[in-house]
Amino acid sequence: MPENTRSFLARKGEKARNLAALRRACVQWRQNDDVFARLQGRLATTLSLETLIAIFADEVSSLVPFDQLIYRHQIGQQEFVYASGLGGPHRCDYKLSLEGINYGGLTLSRRLRFAEEELEILEHLLGVAICPIRNACRYASVQQAALTDSLTGIPNKRALDEALARECSRGERHGDTCSLILCDLDHFKQVNDNYGHVVGDHILKAVAQELRKATRNCDELYRFGGEEFAVLLPHTDQDQAYQVAERIRKFINTIRVNCGESDVQTSASLGIAMRLKDENPDHWVARADHILYCAKRAGRNCTRLADAVAAKP
Ligand code: GH3
Ligand code: MG
Ligand code: MG
Repeated sequence: MPENTRSFLARKGEKARNLAALRRACVQWRQNDDVFARLQGRLATTLSLETLIAIFADEVSSLVPFDQLIYRHQIGQQEFVYASGLGGPHRCDYKLSLEGINYGGLTLSRRLRFAEEELEILEHLLGVAICPIRNACRYASVQQAALTDSLTGIPNKRALDEALARECSRGERHGDTCSLILCDLDHFKQVNDNYGHVVGDHILKAVAQELRKATRNCDELYRFGGEEFAVLLPHTDQDQAYQVAERIRKFINTIRVNCGESDVQTSASLGIAMRLKDENPDHWVARADHILYCAKRAGRNCTRLADAVAAKP
């Protein structure tokens, strides 16, 4: 038998088997609602959006086979994306919403066309999942708000504490290099005193924007305190961190906030500390803070590097 006839018959056979399996699944599904009870039970075990979508994908795959499942949702400033598998030419898209509020989009794709019965099952499963998905989205957004500075929209001190602890354990386990930049605006109290807090707040927002421009996506920005910012640079040694810090300092120098007759300018002093072996977060931050203080004493609007060896006790 010619090769193309054999592969045509094999494809036909596969399609027939798939359809038969689907029909069996539909009959079973119509006869008992265990799958819904099980899905509901499993979804109730977590508030993590990632785990929840993984459970959903797992349950769906037993009834409606797919090659790829993608779920996307914008939560605050971050886009949450869950993706499993590789796609195919046939897809079905769902916009998830409850009481008029959007909870993201789900796309399933595969090589074979989706049958009407499968779409019916999928919609029922989504009906079960939508409330848990809404709860997980709300939880994720509350969690994100707790770690975000409301004025500048960048992560706050609490988020920095978590990141420092994570980098310290990564450094211990894999020997990863990581540098920390602390950046403190110069004479910022005078800015507030002379031009008012509203202008001061504008400058703080502009600084956050300049920090974003001056760093790469993998660098992490934080508002460390009132007029203090921190940048965590994974896989970056102190010399590379110095280049970044200088770029930040120069970008901050370009800020102009118009207030009536004049433009207000600002500057910053920066201290850099590369994490030392066995160093804990407190010690690491204290070294960066100390070297920042040295930059202030050196006349401000400059960058200073901490020693790359541990200070003798
Ligand atoms: P230095 O160059 O030594 O850092 O002087 P400085 O004036 O910047 O430092 P100081 O610590 O004396 O003052 C910090 C100022 O930052 C005081 C405070 O009013 C201001 N500040 C802190 N948080 C905010 C904020 O959220 N908005 C505004 N507008 N100002 C803030
Ligand atoms: Mg300060
Ligand atoms: Mg200051």
